[in-house]
Amino acid sequence: GKSIYFFARGQTDGRADMKNLLGGKGANLAEMTNLDIPVPPGFTITTEVCTAFYANGRRWPEGLDEEIRRNMARLEQVTGRRFGDPEKPLLVSVRSGARVSMPGMMDTILNLGLNDRTVQGLARQADERFAYDSYRRFVQMYGNVVLHVSSEEYEKLIEEVKERKGVELDTQLTAADWKELVGRFKALIQQRTGQPFPEEPEEQLFGAINAVFDSWNNPRAIRYREINKIPGDWGTAVNVQTMVFGNLGETSGTGVAFTRDPSTGKNVFYGEYLMNAQGEDVVAGIRTPQPIRTLQEAQPQAYQQLEEIRQKLEAHYRDMMDIEFTIQDGELFMLQCRSGKRTALAAVTIAVDMVKEGLIDKETAIRRVDPEQVEQLLHPMVDPGQELEVLTKGLPASPGAAVGRIVLTADDAEDWADRGERVVLVRTETSPEDIGGMNVAEGILTARGGMTSHAAVVARGMGKCCVAGAGEVRVDTTARQISVNGRVLKEGDWITLNGTTGEVYPGQAKLVEPELSGAFGELMAWADELRTLGVRTNADTPHDAEVARRFGAEGIGLCRTEHMFFGENRIVAVREMILADDEESRRKALAKLLPYQRDDFYGILKVMEGLPVTIRLLDPPLHEFLPHEEEAVDEVARETGKSPAEVRAKVESLKEFNPMLGHRGCRLGVTYPEIYEMQVQAIFEAATRLAKEGLSIHPEVMIPLVGTPEELSFLRERVEKVAREVMEKAGVQVPYKVGTMIEVPRAALVADRIAEGAEFFSFGTNDLTQMTFGFSRDDAGVFLEDYRKKGILRSDPFQTLDQEGVGQLVQMGLERGRKTRPDLKVGICGEHGGDPASVKFCHRTGLDYVSCSPYRVPVARLAAAQARV
Ligand code: PEP
Ligand code: MG
Repeated sequence: GKSIYFFARGQTDGRADMKNLLGGKGANLAEMTNLDIPVPPGFTITTEVCTAFYANGRRWPEGLDEEIRRNMARLEQVTGRRFGDPEKPLLVSVRSGARVSMPGMMDTILNLGLNDRTVQGLARQADERFAYDSYRRFVQMYGNVVLHVSSEEYEKLIEEVKERKGVELDTQLTAADWKELVGRFKALIQQRTGQPFPEEPEEQLFGAINAVFDSWNNPRAIRYREINKIPGDWGTAVNVQTMVFGNLGETSGTGVAFTRDPSTGKNVFYGEYLMNAQGEDVVAGIRTPQPIRTLQEAQPQAYQQLEEIRQKLEAHYRDMMDIEFTIQDGELFMLQCRSGKRTALAAVTIAVDMVKEGLIDKETAIRRVDPEQVEQLLHPMVDPGQELEVLTKGLPASPGAAVGRIVLTADDAEDWADRGERVVLVRTETSPEDIGGMNVAEGILTARGGMTSHAAVVARGMGKCCVAGAGEVRVDTTARQISVNGRVLKEGDWITLNGTTGEVYPGQAKLVEPELSGAFGELMAWADELRTLGVRTNADTPHDAEVARRFGAEGIGLCRTEHMFFGENRIVAVREMILADDEESRRKALAKLLPYQRDDFYGILKVMEGLPVTIRLLDPPLHEFLPHEEEAVDEVARETGKSPAEVRAKVESLKEFNPMLGHRGCRLGVTYPEIYEMQVQAIFEAATRLAKEGLSIHPEVMIPLVGTPEELSFLRERVEKVAREVMEKAGVQVPYKVGTMIEVPRAALVADRIAEGAEFFSFGTNDLTQMTFGFSRDDAGVFLEDYRKKGILRSDPFQTLDQEGVGQLVQMGLERGRKTRPDLKVGICGEHGGDPASVKFCHRTGLDYVSCSPYRVPVARLAAAQARV
C-alpha cells in the first residue's frame, strides 16, 4: 500500500484511528489538522515501511525514495518554500513515532535542510546569530544521531571557544562564534567518520530517516519495550514536518501541557513552557520551565488560543490529552497531541469526572482505567498524622510514597536492588539511559526539571512515586552523597519521598493505608454492577482476609494451610509428626497441632463471615518442613527427642528427584489420612463454634492435586465422616462443600467423573501450567527469559494464562465437570486469578469466580467488568 501519508490543511490523508500504521504522533497530527487546529504541515512514513526496512536487511522498500521526493514537493508547494533554497529554505524536523509513545527513547533531528547556503536564507529571515545557532544545533544533532560522533566532543569544542573568549554562557556567543563552530564540528565529523558532512538536503533527509528507523532498535528503546511489554515487531513511523521555531526571541516559546492535571486528575489546564527555547528544552529538564498560567500574561493571545484548543481536543477525543506546542513570533502551532499518561489516581478521577460531565459513559470509564494501574491506589501513603522533618520540597510529580536508601546512579540502583535493597534514585535530572534504574527504584528524586521532565513523565508512566525539581538538592556522584543547604546525606542513607506533596524527609517515615472512597469507590461500584464474574482472595491469615475483604473480596478462594505449619511452636509438632514411626505417635503429634489450626480457622472464618471460605488441605511435600543444615538437624533432634542420626535418615528418605511430582497434595492424604482428618476436625470445630456464636459460616474443604476420581472419593469419605462427627458432637450443623483442585492435566480430562465427587472445582493454574508445559515453576525463570527475548513465548505463562494450551484444559475441565453436575461451582486460584487478561479469559469461559492475592482484588474486579464492555 501507500508508504507515506501527507498532512496539511485541506489535504490530509490520515486519521486518529490509524495509529498502528502512522504511529501515535502521525495519526494525531493528521487528526488535529483535520480539526483545523494549526499544525505545521508534513508527512508520515508508515510503520510498515520500518518493518519492511528490517525485513529487508535494513534497506528501503522499492520506490520509497520517489515517494519521499513527491511528498517533499507537495510540502514545498503548501509552504511556499523550497528544500535547499538559499532564499527561502524549507527546513524540517524528522521524528520517530511508534504506536504507543516511548518518551525520549528514539531519535529526533531538528533544523534539517540547513547547509552553508540555506543558512543565509534563514539569517535574512530571522537574524544571523539565530541562523548560525540553529545550524550548529543541526550539525551537532545530526553528527551525533546519524553519524555517531558523541555529543561530548562538540561540547568540548564549544567550551574551548567560550574559554578563549572569556565568556561563560552559550548565550554570550556571537553569530561569528557559531559560524566558526559549525566549521569545527564539520571538521571533527570528517575526522571521525572519514566522510564530509552531507551538505545536500536530500542526503541529510535520507540519513535522518534511516537513523530514526535504526533508533527503534537502540538498547534503551529495547529495554523500554521490555519493561512496558511492547512488541519489538511494531516498528516506528517517521514524521517529517515543517520546522517552526520557539527560539526566535522573547515572543517565541515552546511548551508541553495536559488538558487536566495528570497527577491528580483535577480538571485544570496544566503545563509548562519556556520562552525563547527550542523543542526538547522543556522535557530535557535542563531549564526549569514556567507554569502555563503565567503564559496568560506573557502571551495572552496565544494562551487564549491554547485554551480553546484544549476545549476542542477534550470534546473531540473525550479524553485527557497531552499536547506539545510552539509559539513562533506570537503564532501558535501544535506539534503533538496524544492521550496523556496519568497516574492511577488521575486515571480514576478523570474517568469518573468525565462521566459526570457527560463526555463518556460508565462503560467507557471502566474501559479507560488500566486494571494493573489501580493496584497503585491501594499502596500505602506517607502518614499525614506524624511529625516529620522536611528535608526539602520539590514538585509532586507522581504521587504515592517511597521509602528507600539513597543511590545516585541508575546502575547502582540496579545493583542494589539485585541485592534486595529498597532504593530511592536521586539524580540531578534523569535521562532515557536511566530507565532500568528508575524501574527498580522505589521512587525518584531529581534536583532539576519540571512536571513534564523526563523523570516526572516516566515515573508517572511506571506508577512510581517521584519528586522532581527539588532545587535545593545538590547531587555529588564523586563523593557519593547529596547535600541540601549544607546538610549531607550519604549514599545508602534512608530517605522518604512524598510524591503527593513533593516533600522529602530524611529517614524512614511511617506509611498508612490509603482511603478507598471517592472516585475510586464510585468507579469500583460501577464495575461491580457490571461484572458477573465473582472475585475472591487467596489468604492464609485473618489479617490478609481482612485486607482483601476491605478491597471487595467476596470470599476466600484459596486458604493454603501449609503456611500455618511454620509458626514457632507448631513447626516442632509438625516435625514430630513427620518423624513419627507409627500412626499412633503421628496422631499424638497431630493432636498438638489441632488447637493451633482451630484458632487459625476460627480467625479466618470469622473475618469472612457470610462468605464462602475454601480451605485447602495440606499440599507441599513433607520434606519442606524438615531442616537441611547440620546444626538445625541437631536442634530438631533435641526438640523431638530423636537422635540426630534418625533425623538425618528421615531427611534423606524424604528427598525426591522431582518433589513437585512427588509425594504431595492428596497423595499425602492417601498415605496419612490422619493429617487431613486433623485439619478437617480443626475446620469444623472452628466453624461450629462460630455458628454457635450466631455467625453464618460457609467452609469449603478442598482436596489438592487430584488426578483420579478414586483419590477424591477415598478422601472425601473421610472428610465427611470427621465433619459429621464434629457437628454431631457440637450439636450444630454448618453447611459446607467438598471439592477439588484441578491442577493435574488428567483431572481436566476426566473432569466428568471427578465431578461426581466434587461440589466445586478450583483450577490451580500454577501447577496446571507447570504440568501442561512441563516447565518447573521453580526453575523455569532462567530459560523463560530467553524464550521471551527470542520471541518463542510472548509472556510468562506463570504470570498470564496460556489461553491456547492450558486454557483448553480449563475449558474442557469446566465443560466436562458441568456435564455431570450442572451447578458445579468453578473458580481459579492460581496466580492468574489476578492477571487482567487471564481474568477476562475466565469470564469468557464461564467460570464463577477468580481468586487472587488481596491487593489484586480490585484489579480483578475491574478486569471482570472490562470483560463485559
Ligand atoms: C496452583 O497450583 O495453582 C495453586 C493455587 O496451588 P499452589 O500454588 O499452592 O501449588
Ligand atoms: Mg498447586
